[in-house]
Amino acid sequence: MIRGSTELVAIIGSPIAQVKSPENFNAWFAENGQELAMIAVDMAEQNLAAFIQSLRGWNNLRGCVVTVPYKQVLAGQLDQLSARAAALGSVNVIRREADGRLLGDNVDGEGFLKATRAHGFEPSGKRALVVGSGGVGAAIAYGLCEAGVGVLVIADLDQPRAERLAGVLRGAFPHMTVGNAYDGLGAFDLVVNATPVGMGDTGELPLPGVLLESLSPKALVADVVTSPVITPFLALARDLGCRIQTGPEMARAQMGNLGAHMGVMPLEA
Ligand code: NAD
Repeated sequence: MIRGSTELVAIIGSPIAQVKSPENFNAWFAENGQELAMIAVDMAEQNLAAFIQSLRGWNNLRGCVVTVPYKQVLAGQLDQLSARAAALGSVNVIRREADGRLLGDNVDGEGFLKATRAHGFEPSGKRALVVGSGGVGAAIAYGLCEAGVGVLVIADLDQPRAERLAGVLRGAFPHMTVGNAYDGLGAFDLVVNATPVGMGDTGELPLPGVLLESLSPKALVADVVTSPVITPFLALARDLGCRIQTGPEMARAQMGNLGAHMGVMPLEA
């Protein structure tokens, strides 16, 4: 029940009906006796600037989760960004301060890492391959650098995009080894699909099947795609004996990070 006294958080994107955050947040608020609720907002792009201006004056709104396609465009409209959101040029969460100032962060990478740690995988010193250097791939790659991964390789069909991201990361983490080239997959401790490939029922793989055969059975293989839960990539990795991490695990793991940034939940929620 939303009452006059209920404080709100929002999630904004377009379309919005497919997102799971409202169920997850509202269930947590109810289970923990919080007088808070999340609403889902499907906003037209031409009205984004007006929406952001409304947030500044929206006194009973604590913050807003941001999803596709607005993570990049909204990063340019806030009052302050975390260092990683500024480096990535994208936000997935906004906190509204009591004076109306809007502070953006991107916790996709933290959520990803929380899920890998739940699998017993500690990234420090490890060798990681991230396939896909778009919004979520960049956030995961940044998170891996923050966590002190030993070697990071970023691959993308859009090679200049992958090279640009590697350059940004080398600038932010000068001691890190970040590259774009690799031979087989056998040397990687972590291989991540951060592309939309495998979504739906296309049966597509983000890397050629022959190359995937070179995965080490000791590797953790992760996918960001949320539907299906077990993508063809994860199914193949599981058949090879690898541990696997699903897209929904990453999404669920970052709820506490999103909630903590908005000040409505502890980090570990
Ligand atoms: P994006 O469009 O910004 O980036 C995708 C990148 O993948 C592009 O750079 C593209 O060139 C590259 N790519 C596509 N096919 C490729 C291939 N076969 N090999 C190499 N590179 C390839 O998209 P995004 O915002 O980063 O989202 C990617 C996926 O992540 C989406 O499916 C989204 O739903 C999912 N996602 C999941 C979570 C989660 O919590 N699980 C969070 C955010 C996004």
